[in-house]
Amino acid sequence: MVMSAWGLQFSSGDQTVENRKLFAKSYFKKCPMCIKQKPDLEKSNIEENKIPAGCRMNGDAYGTTVFKCLDCKWETSFQWDDASDCYYYETQYWK
Ligand SMILES: [Zn+2]
Repeated sequence: MVMSAWGLQFSSGDQTVENRKLFAKSYFKKCPMCIKQKPDLEKSNIEENKIPAGCRMNGDAYGTTVFKCLDCKWETSFQWDDASDCYYYETQYWK
C-alpha cells in the first residue's frame, strides 16, 4: 500500500520567531508590522490561505496556512495538523 502524500508542508514569508510569536498571541489577527506603527490596532487586514499538504488514512489532514497582511504585505505561515493537540503545532510551546 502506498501512502497518499501529495504535498509537503512548507514555510514561507517571515519566519522570525519574535514576529510570529506576536502574531500568534493576537490569535492570528494582528500584523506585527502594523502593530508597531499603530499599537492600538484592533485587527489587521489579514488574508488567510489554507493549503493542505496531505491527508492520512483516518481523514486527518495537515498542511500550511499562509497569512498575509493586505495593508503592508507582511507574510508568514504556520503549519497545522488535524491530529495535533495544538492545531498550529509550531506555537505549542510559545507561552
Ligand atoms: Zn501589516
